[in-house]
Amino acid sequence: MKPETALSAVRIVLVEPQHPGNIGAAARAMKAMGLSDLALVAPASYPHADATARAAGADDILAAAPVHAALPEAVADCRLVLGTSARSRRLPWPLVDAREAAGRALAAVGDGPVALVFGRERSGLSNAELDRCDLHVQIPCNPEFSSLNLAAAVQVLCYELRLAAGAGIEPAGEYDPPATAAELEGFYTHLEEVMVAGGFLDPERPKWLMRRLRRLFTRAAPESAEINILRGLLKALDPRRR
Ligand code: SAH
Repeated sequence: MKPETALSAVRIVLVEPQHPGNIGAAARAMKAMGLSDLALVAPASYPHADATARAAGADDILAAAPVHAALPEAVADCRLVLGTSARSRRLPWPLVDAREAAGRALAAVGDGPVALVFGRERSGLSNAELDRCDLHVQIPCNPEFSSLNLAAAVQVLCYELRLAAGAGIEPAGEYDPPATAAELEGFYTHLEEVMVAGGFLDPERPKWLMRRLRRLFTRAAPESAEINILRGLLKALDPRRR
């Protein structure tokens, strides 16, 4: 599945967000990571200018977000529901970290949407809401200070989803394949000849010089074009040509 298709099947559900700014910031975090399906459960004040302002251009996600009265409606069509929590609950429940959660969510998207549920800024998700989730997710944090801002938590999970979907960064520069063994051998022979001709390498007492230089160039993994440059350089510096 293409990364964009997989990411579009992941729903972010915010349960009773108090601050409209957090809704906007969550939409922005989603859009930047390629997600688009946002659902709201009983937001305290929404729509709101703070939400639009913090969305910073992700207002299409806000405009498309349905508002539900309670969590079950927001996840009714989902095949897998993951509930996030900053702290472990008394009743043990299958718990995964953000990275594993992203992998599990994407593995399930083929069968229908998957939901990641986020709780209230003050009190998180209730036990009844967490019971509705198949799996609990924790973002590993400083144990003394484990509660992230709501939109920051959305950002971390959306980022993990993006990486898990295989939508990483484009490599900045393309490398050509390394030179062939024959090209390298031709270079080493040439190098040795010029070093001998220039008096740098004594063929009677070569010591480890060629070995060390081979080791250096092996580490650098030069491309064919780079070997050609070095050969041109050797040719230009060759004292036999003077
Ligand atoms: N005291 C609340 C903190 C709520 S923070 C609690 O114990 O849950 C608001 C929401 O942000 C949480 O409900 C959760 O959805 C998300 N969140 C914050 N920190 C998180 C963390 N370390 N791991 C997973 N989700 C987190």
